[in-house]
Amino acid sequence: TRQWRLASRPVGEPTRDNFDLVSVDRPEPGPNEVLVRTLYQSVDPYMRGRMRDAESYAEPWDVGEPMRAGVVGEVIASNAAAFSAGDIVTGDLLWAEHAVADASELRHVNPEHGPISTALGVLGMPGVTAYFGLLDVAEPTPGDTVVVSAAAGAVGSVAGQLAQLNGARVVGTAGSEAKVEWLTDDLGFDAAINYNATDDLSSAVDDACLDGIDVYFDNVGGPITDAVWPRLNVRARVAVCGQIALYNETDVPTGPRKLGKLIESRARVEGFLVSDYEGRWGEALHRLSRFIRDGDLEYRENVVEGFENAPDAFLGLFKGENIGKQLVKVAEY
Ligand code: NDP
Repeated sequence: TRQWRLASRPVGEPTRDNFDLVSVDRPEPGPNEVLVRTLYQSVDPYMRGRMRDAESYAEPWDVGEPMRAGVVGEVIASNAAAFSAGDIVTGDLLWAEHAVADASELRHVNPEHGPISTALGVLGMPGVTAYFGLLDVAEPTPGDTVVVSAAAGAVGSVAGQLAQLNGARVVGTAGSEAKVEWLTDDLGFDAAINYNATDDLSSAVDDACLDGIDVYFDNVGGPITDAVWPRLNVRARVAVCGQIALYNETDVPTGPRKLGKLIESRARVEGFLVSDYEGRWGEALHRLSRFIRDGDLEYRENVVEGFENAPDAFLGLFKGENIGKQLVKVAEY
């Protein structure tokens, strides 16, 4: 069986050379452990932080060691009472075709509830992030103008739709025409800005947000956030979810220089981590699945085929190759 290991730490944008594909013996499950065959593997922006040798909310990976990822897989062998061969499970496992996990690290996925891959996207970590980031941190009210950056991504597309369901006017930013079309034509966003197609992001934000901005759900930071900031309304709320535009920076970027706006607007800026909501995961999944079932929440997945292409799927996140959740299909289900 094969595993991807961290070959070296990237400087700036990661490349395929930072990854090493190795063959190893298939592991055997120990007491209370389960052997899982990976069907889908997730790649996520936060993994860039784990490639770095610096303190962060996620531990750095060691060079030469296998990396970890969200996985949906099939139980091949089990020494745990709660799991049997054939069960579909999800958990934080390895970038690997097979991995063993302690039973406490896994939860069941019911294939009758929808495509199993959604346990890594809209009905998994990114969906739960959008749910609590938007509803608990940003707290939109009907009539608010809500701006979401990386709006066509896994988290952003859910956050924007939840804002709509709460009666907000929603504006997304994204990096291509295809994404903007998906947001406005299919998801019904009130406006979407292709930041790669404009030299004047500030005016584009102004035109799309004539009444200013009440909520900013930020996935990217950098120039998009700079353009949004001056339009924050009185008592605006900024939920800082991610800063992907800065993850590959080698120099420490200049700090925010527009904080004076917060005095005038009395806006609240709050970062959050999905892991803070571990105890309420079930509540989010329950409501998100109901929205999907009722046709109120749409999702897309960008599936890269083949375990050997997992690094490319990861690198694609920084090039904006994905519409919706970026996944790797490792084996047939
Ligand atoms: P996405 O599905 O949104 O994929 C990443 C997207 O980011 C790309 O498709 C691309 O879209 C955009 N992007 C990449 N580079 C840049 C750049 N330089 N400037 C602007 N946009 C860029 O990923 P996720 O939905 O999984 O994650 C979104 C954000 O949420 C990330 O920042 C992630 O770290 C964060 N996150 C935070 C969590 C938390 O607990 N706080 C949990 C999960 C995710 P485009 O074409 O639009 O540029």
